[in-house]
Amino acid sequence: MNLVFFGPPGAGKGTQAQRIVADFSIPQISTGEILRAAVANGTPLGKQAGPLMAAGKLVPDELVIGIVEERLEEKDCQKGFLLDGFPRTIPQAESLQAVLAKTGKRIEHVVSLEVPDSVIHERMKGRGRADDSPETVQKRLDEFRKLTAPLKAYYEKLGLLRTIDGVGSLEDIYASIKRALKLS
Ligand code: ADP
Repeated sequence: MNLVFFGPPGAGKGTQAQRIVADFSIPQISTGEILRAAVANGTPLGKQAGPLMAAGKLVPDELVIGIVEERLEEKDCQKGFLLDGFPRTIPQAESLQAVLAKTGKRIEHVVSLEVPDSVIHERMKGRGRADDSPETVQKRLDEFRKLTAPLKAYYEKLGLLRTIDGVGSLEDIYASIKRALKLS
């Protein structure tokens, strides 16, 4: 099963993604986590991405596309994968299509977690990440609306978009996701 999890910062992508990967034994590929590890390790990638992430901006497409392309070649992705936080722009989505096509693979479902901005601001207050200050959260939301939201129409046209109400209990949201994937 090849999945994309999509939604604004604080939508709960990571939390729900963890349950899916545990239940279905596929790897979770989180570009945010990969980038944070690069920043923590002080790699050249981390040095380039760090200041942008701290400012709530997206990192350049070519950087993340390279990361994901390499990661998808790993053996554990053969039986499926869950992309969390990628693609985030139309060029990223187009590259993903091209990369997968080379190996005869395709995305089966794009799970879009829908959460209003007011709820996101509330949720972020309870987190402790360096980029979770109210100003940076606003910047990340702006980036999402401007650069990432157009992906909904892109995937809708491809017939892959599964829209999920991301407000509610973790259990209920997970049940909706499984229904949308026709897994229960
Ligand atoms: P969230 O979904 O809460 O914004 P992530 O962990 O997915 O958190 O991303 C954190 C930051 O990492 C983003 O604000 C951005 O700077 C960078 N990032 C992650 N994924 C991408 C991507 N696909 N393209 C560009 N930047 C990314």
